[in-house]
Amino acid sequence: MMEKGNLSINSENIFPIIKKWLYSDTDIFLRELVSNGCDAINKLKKLKSMGEANVSDNEEYRVTVRLNEEEKTIQVIDNGLGMTADEIKEYITQIAFSGASDFIAKYQDKIENGSDIIGHFGLGFYSAFMVAEKVEIDSKSYIPDAPAAKWICDGGVEYEIGDSDKVDRGTVITLHIDDDSKEFLNGWKLKEILAKYCYFMPVEIYFEEEKKDNENKEDNTSEAEEKPVNDTAPLWLKKPSECTDEEYKAFYHKVFSDFNDPLFWIHLNMDYPFRLKGILYFPKLKHELESIEGQVKLYNNQVFIADNLKEVIPEFLLLLKGTIDCPDLPLNVSRSFLQNDGYVTKMSKYITKKVADKLNSLFKKDRAEYEKFWEDISPFIKYGAMREHEFYEKVKDILLFKTTDGKYETLSEYTDNNKEKAENKVFYVSDIQQQAQYIKMFKDQGMEAVVLDTKLDIPYVSFLEAYSGGTQFARIDSAVSDMLKSDEETSVDKDALEKLFKSVLGKDDLKISVEGLKDEGVSAVIELSEQSRRMQEMSAIYGMGNSTFPSDETLVLNGNSSIVKLLLDIKDSRKEEADMICRHIYDLAVMSHKPLSMEAMTEFIARSNKIMELLAEK
Ligand code: ADP
Repeated sequence: MMEKGNLSINSENIFPIIKKWLYSDTDIFLRELVSNGCDAINKLKKLKSMGEANVSDNEEYRVTVRLNEEEKTIQVIDNGLGMTADEIKEYITQIAFSGASDFIAKYQDKIENGSDIIGHFGLGFYSAFMVAEKVEIDSKSYIPDAPAAKWICDGGVEYEIGDSDKVDRGTVITLHIDDDSKEFLNGWKLKEILAKYCYFMPVEIYFEEEKKDNENKEDNTSEAEEKPVNDTAPLWLKKPSECTDEEYKAFYHKVFSDFNDPLFWIHLNMDYPFRLKGILYFPKLKHELESIEGQVKLYNNQVFIADNLKEVIPEFLLLLKGTIDCPDLPLNVSRSFLQNDGYVTKMSKYITKKVADKLNSLFKKDRAEYEKFWEDISPFIKYGAMREHEFYEKVKDILLFKTTDGKYETLSEYTDNNKEKAENKVFYVSDIQQQAQYIKMFKDQGMEAVVLDTKLDIPYVSFLEAYSGGTQFARIDSAVSDMLKSDEETSVDKDALEKLFKSVLGKDDLKISVEGLKDEGVSAVIELSEQSRRMQEMSAIYGMGNSTFPSDETLVLNGNSSIVKLLLDIKDSRKEEADMICRHIYDLAVMSHKPLSMEAMTEFIARSNKIMELLAEK
């Protein structure tokens, strides 16, 4: 006999609301039902261990998800503690229902736009109505002699409750999938959802698909998978001291489908003041920052919540790959709440500290290994330093700089090694090929520059200048006259040279200076002031176009170069050749600084041919 009941004194119907608001994340219905099944099993195990439930020691606990496409049903079956009719009334129709309605009432305005809640935890059982037009519960309690109970609700405010013919202990939830949600009547789809949301749940989960047997239409054959779809003991739960490198790597390969080995990892394991376990991996990078995509999966007691939840995990850590399980996290609240939650802040600080500690211990224990990793981990560390000041404070002494001779030095090592020439100044190269000529000149002086050649380095340089206590950065082409001058003044006629170049090149506004550079083989170089170049870079980044800031280039002629000296001798007597040499010196200087423009390049080639002709004729 079925008894009728009413879900709510308030006749508001929450089901259409559930359907509408949670539509974007419909998949979670399965997570909710399967995790309820796991909870029911864990509760039973607990009762058994306290001697309060009579269960065989050989009991095979499991949750089964069974699809029947023909009948348009999905069942979630567990052999947990079960519920009596009174318990169903209490837990499902009162507590769960009021939980769901409270939740909706509370976050009504926030969920209006769909995206402002996370996890949708707290809706629990009623999320079934996101995909089902009718839901049945058949349950038999572990309590001896308690009759099995059946509950049916078709998504309205009324439900029926009565006897069930279920004989074995546990609960079967049967969802009659509505026509709008037919996509869930598909084995692949369900397995995909299980793999995403239930992969680490603590009880074995099996997937079964009922298929109508064509020969004998009366009989259903059931296709059961032999292996559970999940891993009930994720590695993060194991004690770090008991995990082997192989286990860490295998776990990484499996969870992130990345065939490469991770560089190294951090096993997070904390009980107080909050519980947090997890493993963070530093992946091997293939590209520059733009393409780094980490994946940090967040779990609540082995139940998957979401990937890359920015509110909980410090943003710069999202470049890593990992799993984090925090049972204490309040997940049934809105994102904006999470951002201001003290717990979340503490957690984020803890993770940041652990990562910094790991990097510091690597640096101290095995500098060579740390250097080997540097290229891979540096985008992460640079970005992290800029984003989180606390992180920067913890890693500032282990930031490495690759020098032009291929060594890795910290900031203080570099400044110590180069301090005779440049106190507190760091010279850097942003393109080792294009700036090869400058690098050579620096090397000839016994100096090295550091290589900072990624996009991230532009803000990184400014960041370090602001925070690293007075260190100034200068690109290698900004310091020519300062750094490369010989000690003696040059004796050439500076004014005559300047006048000659100005008139030949026809560039009145070109800045020209004449210096005696050490390297006599260099006729001229371009010097570009650091400040004006940065302005140009900024305006390019912010899309103001290059023309906003005039380029501040100086042609530095080397008074010690023999060709420059010769030029002065022939400038009046062999005007045509002098002209060509002027232009050639200028082009060579520009070329060692940046690519020539198209016109300049064709002219340069034509002129080079002409010069060879002159040589051959001689
Ligand atoms: P929550 O799981 O967050 O408590 P639910 O709405 O999912 O909320 O479930 C409400 C209650 O119903 C649970 O706390 C539990 O007592 C009971 N329940 C749900 N599913 C099962 C099940 N498969 N077996 C036993 N009890 C269940």
